[in-house]
Amino acid sequence: MSALVGACRLEVYGRDQGCVARMVDPESGPCYDAWGVVIANGFVLPYDVGEMDYVRLGATGDRHQLPEDHVWLCPGHHRGTGPSRGYVWATANRRKERDYLDRVNGVIRIVEAEMTVDGEPVGLARDIVIRTD
Ligand SMILES: [Zn+2]
Repeated sequence: MSALVGACRLEVYGRDQGCVARMVDPESGPCYDAWGVVIANGFVLPYDVGEMDYVRLGATGDRHQLPEDHVWLCPGHHRGTGPSRGYVWATANRRKERDYLDRVNGVIRIVEAEMTVDGEPVGLARDIVIRTD
Protein backbone atom coordinates (compact mmCIF):
# COMPACT_ATOMS: atom_id res chain seq x y z
CA MET A 1 0.00 0.00 0.00
CA SER A 2 1.49 3.33 -1.01
CA ALA A 3 1.64 6.22 1.44
CA LEU A 4 -0.95 8.06 -0.63
CA VAL A 5 -3.38 5.15 -0.55
CA GLY A 6 -2.73 4.74 3.18
CA ALA A 7 -3.55 8.42 3.80
CA CYS A 8 -6.70 8.16 1.69
CA ARG A 9 -7.79 5.02 3.55
CA LEU A 10 -7.23 6.66 6.92
CA GLU A 11 -9.31 9.68 5.93
CA VAL A 12 -12.19 7.60 4.53
CA TYR A 13 -12.18 5.45 7.67
CA GLY A 14 -12.14 8.52 9.90
CA ARG A 15 -15.06 10.07 8.05
CA ASP A 16 -17.36 7.06 7.71
CA GLN A 17 -16.19 4.77 10.55
CA GLY A 18 -18.95 2.26 9.88
CA CYS A 19 -20.23 0.46 6.80
CA VAL A 20 -21.91 3.05 4.58
CA ALA A 21 -24.34 0.43 3.26
CA ARG A 22 -25.89 0.22 6.73
CA MET A 23 -26.13 4.02 6.91
CA VAL A 24 -27.83 4.63 3.58
CA ASP A 25 -29.86 1.46 3.04
CA PRO A 26 -31.88 -0.10 5.89
CA GLU A 27 -32.58 -3.08 3.62
CA SER A 28 -28.90 -3.81 3.00
CA GLY A 29 -28.75 -6.70 5.49
CA PRO A 30 -25.95 -7.62 7.88
CA CYS A 31 -22.28 -6.86 7.35
CA TYR A 32 -19.83 -9.70 6.67
CA ASP A 33 -16.08 -9.92 7.06
CA ALA A 34 -13.70 -11.19 4.38
CA TRP A 35 -14.45 -14.82 5.32
CA GLY A 36 -18.22 -14.43 5.21
CA VAL A 37 -18.72 -14.24 8.98
CA VAL A 38 -21.37 -11.79 10.21
CA ILE A 39 -19.97 -8.63 11.81
CA ALA A 40 -22.14 -7.94 14.83
CA ASN A 41 -22.08 -4.15 14.54
CA GLY A 42 -21.45 -2.80 11.05
CA PHE A 43 -21.91 0.77 12.24
CA VAL A 44 -18.46 0.53 13.78
CA LEU A 45 -16.09 -1.08 11.29
CA PRO A 46 -12.45 -1.31 12.42
CA TYR A 47 -9.66 0.01 10.20
CA ASP A 48 -8.26 -3.45 9.52
CA VAL A 49 -11.67 -4.93 8.63
CA GLY A 50 -13.29 -2.26 6.46
CA GLU A 51 -12.59 -1.71 2.78
CA MET A 52 -12.63 1.34 0.53
CA ASP A 53 -15.00 1.29 -2.41
CA TYR A 54 -14.22 3.60 -5.31
CA VAL A 55 -17.58 5.08 -6.31
CA ARG A 56 -17.09 7.44 -9.22
CA LEU A 57 -17.55 6.68 -12.91
CA GLY A 58 -15.00 6.96 -15.66
CA ALA A 59 -12.16 8.42 -13.62
CA THR A 60 -8.60 7.23 -13.71
CA GLY A 61 -5.30 7.94 -12.01
CA ASP A 62 -5.24 10.60 -9.35
CA ARG A 63 -8.95 10.50 -8.60
CA HIS A 64 -8.45 7.03 -7.16
CA GLN A 65 -6.43 8.67 -4.37
CA LEU A 66 -9.15 11.09 -3.25
CA PRO A 67 -11.11 10.31 -0.08
CA GLU A 68 -14.18 12.10 -1.42
CA ASP A 69 -14.50 9.45 -4.13
CA HIS A 70 -14.51 6.48 -1.74
CA VAL A 71 -16.84 5.05 0.86
CA TRP A 72 -16.06 2.70 3.73
CA LEU A 73 -17.74 -0.70 3.44
CA CYS A 74 -17.55 -4.13 5.01
CA PRO A 75 -16.23 -6.88 2.71
CA GLY A 76 -19.76 -8.30 2.47
CA HIS A 77 -21.33 -5.14 1.06
CA HIS A 78 -18.21 -4.34 -0.97
CA ARG A 79 -17.48 -7.70 -2.59
CA GLY A 80 -20.37 -9.97 -1.73
CA THR A 81 -18.73 -12.22 0.87
CA GLY A 82 -21.17 -14.26 2.93
CA PRO A 83 -24.40 -15.75 1.56
CA SER A 84 -24.90 -13.13 -1.16
CA ARG A 85 -25.51 -15.59 -4.03
CA GLY A 86 -23.61 -13.33 -6.39
CA TYR A 87 -25.41 -10.14 -5.38
CA VAL A 88 -22.97 -7.34 -4.54
CA TRP A 89 -24.57 -4.45 -2.69
CA ALA A 90 -21.92 -1.90 -3.77
CA THR A 91 -22.38 -2.61 -7.47
CA ALA A 92 -26.16 -2.49 -7.22
CA ASN A 93 -26.27 0.72 -5.19
CA ARG A 94 -23.80 3.17 -6.77
CA ARG A 95 -26.46 5.89 -6.78
CA LYS A 96 -26.91 5.61 -3.00
CA GLU A 97 -23.13 5.73 -2.51
CA ARG A 98 -22.78 8.84 -4.71
CA ASP A 99 -25.66 10.58 -2.95
CA TYR A 100 -23.98 9.85 0.37
CA LEU A 101 -20.68 11.30 -0.86
CA ASP A 102 -22.42 14.41 -2.18
CA ARG A 103 -24.00 14.89 1.24
CA VAL A 104 -20.80 14.48 3.23
CA ASN A 105 -18.50 16.27 0.78
CA GLY A 106 -20.81 18.86 -0.69
CA VAL A 107 -21.38 18.99 -4.44
CA ILE A 108 -19.39 22.20 -4.57
CA ARG A 109 -16.12 22.34 -2.74
CA ILE A 110 -13.14 24.61 -2.56
CA VAL A 111 -9.74 23.12 -3.25
CA GLU A 112 -6.58 24.74 -1.96
CA ALA A 113 -3.08 24.11 -3.24
CA GLU A 114 0.26 25.62 -2.36
CA MET A 115 1.62 27.70 -5.24
CA THR A 116 5.31 27.92 -5.91
CA VAL A 117 7.44 30.10 -8.16
CA ASP A 118 10.87 28.70 -8.95
CA GLY A 119 10.35 26.19 -6.16
CA GLU A 120 9.58 28.86 -3.52
CA PRO A 121 6.16 28.87 -1.83
CA VAL A 122 4.21 32.05 -2.65
CA GLY A 123 0.85 31.28 -1.08
CA LEU A 124 -2.34 29.30 -1.47
CA ALA A 125 -4.29 29.02 -4.72
CA ARG A 126 -8.01 28.42 -4.35
CA ASP A 127 -10.25 26.83 -6.91
CA ILE A 128 -13.93 25.93 -6.85
CA VAL A 129 -14.78 22.45 -8.03
CA ILE A 130 -18.36 21.64 -8.99
CA ARG A 131 -18.98 17.94 -9.21
CA THR A 132 -20.83 16.91 -12.34
CA ASP A 133 -20.47 13.12 -12.32
ZN1 LIG B 1 -21.63 -3.76 5.49
